[in-house]
Amino acid sequence: MENKEKISNVENVVIIGSGPAGYTAAIYAARANLQPLLVTGFNSGGIPGGQLMTTTFVENYPGFPDGVLGPELMDLMKAQAERWGTNLYESDVVSINTDSHPFELKTLEGTIKSNSIIIATGASANRLGVINEDKFWSKGISACAICDGATPQFRDEELAVIGGGDSACEEAAYLTKYGSKVHLIVRSEKLRASAAMVDRVKANPKIEIHWNTKVNKADGSEWLEKIETIHSLEGKGEINIKGLFYAIGHTPNTKFLGNKIDLDNKGYIACKSGRPETSIEGIFAAGDVVDSEWRQGVTAAGTGCMAALATERWLAEKNLAKTIVRETPEPEKKLNSSDFNEEEVNEDTFDSNSEWQKGSYALRKLYHESKKPILVIFSSPSCGPCHVLKPQLKRVIKELDGAVLGVEIDIDKDQDIAKQAGINGTPTVQLFKEKLLKKQWQGVKQRSEFKEAIKNII
Ligand code: NAP
Repeated sequence: MENKEKISNVENVVIIGSGPAGYTAAIYAARANLQPLLVTGFNSGGIPGGQLMTTTFVENYPGFPDGVLGPELMDLMKAQAERWGTNLYESDVVSINTDSHPFELKTLEGTIKSNSIIIATGASANRLGVINEDKFWSKGISACAICDGATPQFRDEELAVIGGGDSACEEAAYLTKYGSKVHLIVRSEKLRASAAMVDRVKANPKIEIHWNTKVNKADGSEWLEKIETIHSLEGKGEINIKGLFYAIGHTPNTKFLGNKIDLDNKGYIACKSGRPETSIEGIFAAGDVVDSEWRQGVTAAGTGCMAALATERWLAEKNLAKTIVRETPEPEKKLNSSDFNEEEVNEDTFDSNSEWQKGSYALRKLYHESKKPILVIFSSPSCGPCHVLKPQLKRVIKELDGAVLGVEIDIDKDQDIAKQAGINGTPTVQLFKEKLLKKQWQGVKQRSEFKEAIKNII
């Protein structure tokens, strides 16, 4: 749905956030025929899809006995929410006005009115603030091992992860696929991760744990080369590494609420124990933004369900629900497994007019022969932000009637190309015209940015 279409209506319920809590609330509210509007979030509070977008295999989400990639799980939840009639709105909520009813939500594009709100904005990864952090950010320091681990600069190099929770352990184990050795730097003398995760880390010969150690400073010339550490008893030390990854916990995303809703002393939304009602009647909350203790995908999904059921009851009680009538009781299915695994093209399958192709063969052919601009996305299989960006780029290409052609390069498979292109994180997007690099972007950007740059060169 185009963002502007909805702005003047009063919604039954606006759900803020697109993690497991937000999408589960949306599935329940949509199936109650409330046609919820879900504001996905864009820049604030991490990427759309939430923290599972930066996770590899989720092995403890019920129903997936062999595990499921975090970004795939989120794609499935999104498809399920959309299938039952959730409208998605790609923006950030900047503030909410709770002084009058219907409530008003100010977004980057305009104001939405709604009879009820479910806040499911989750929590964002913390930064450490070591000396030279800004200088080496994206030049060796990253908050997402899962997104950036496959980049060429980290191959066969020593790397480090800071933290002692499940994220740190998972990321350390993941990075051993790429680095020659991974230093896990833990500020205390114990890991707080789950027992299975701790066992995995301790059994991995490529991981060295540095107990009672803090990182003080990052150093190098153009790229990170070493860190200065402080051991609680032995004092200062140094470790030579090419990559430093933070996994030091999260802060709840409540800034946009100002002081409108009661928070607890850690900044999480204060709800009655086990209930989704906030301090304001008609506003409910779910997921990590209310939960400093359990913080699991499945608990977030569970509380998302509770928030939707409570909202449905409240709207019915107040006689505010405007339910839709479905034309077909069985909505059309939205996703199938081939959506996750696009095939790389080869000599036989390459098509010089195809709007989107995958692999180095397609890139080489189009780079040398295409008169049209080409938009190249460098991705890696577990990169959550790439899952967010790819459909956006495909939409840009469609909206421009194929005036630009898209190619996806999996940097895990095509290391040489990634190295030649100077890629140091995913997603990176490069725009070429007749062999000239016209523009480059790193991370998830608005569709309008890509469109404008392409329009300038066609
Ligand atoms: P977390 O459990 O809050 O752990 C944060 C870690 O960072 C702790 O070890 C903490 O040390 C350390 N830390 C915090 N500030 C630090 C600082 N300034 N310097 C150095 N170390 C610092 O966060 P998380 O690992 O991101 O996990 C969050 C939730 O997600 C948890 O409930 C976890 O179980 C879940 N999760 C699950 C999976 C999975 O099941 N696959 C994967 C990832 C996360 P202290 O221990 O000393 O406080």
